[in-house]
Amino acid sequence: MPEQPCLFCRIVSREIPAAIVAEDADVLAFNDIHPQAPTHVLVIPKIHLTTISELTDAHTSLIAKLVLAANRLAQQTGIAETGFRLVLNCGAQAGQSVWHVHLHLLGGRPMAWPPG
Ligand code: AMP
Ligand code: ZN
Repeated sequence: MPEQPCLFCRIVSREIPAAIVAEDADVLAFNDIHPQAPTHVLVIPKIHLTTISELTDAHTSLIAKLVLAANRLAQQTGIAETGFRLVLNCGAQAGQSVWHVHLHLLGGRPMAWPPG
């Protein structure tokens, strides 16, 4: 945990409200406040990790849990049938704006490639 708890740590501790859609001991999922698709959920680890670059072998199971939680939500919301995208922005040039690891789950509309 950083000295000043980050935005997503404060959502984990319920200091800041969010539309939470799934939770277990290690992972929290909530709707993105500025959705970029009909379904746009952020899946985060409850522990503070700044970026994907910080991950080590010790986080193998945690990262798998993020993907599996996103997978379950994709099935529950119906977007697994039509297709969905998982995005991990890492670092400034990739557009990371919140410095707590988060997996974007996006779906419910056709998506272009390459991303902008
Ligand atoms: P990124 O640009 O990959 O760092 O994504 C950060 C995401 O967090 C953006 O899609 C924001 O819309 C979203 N976001 C920022 N603040 C909040 C909040 N309080 N609740 C939910 N989502 C948020
Ligand atoms: Zn944090």
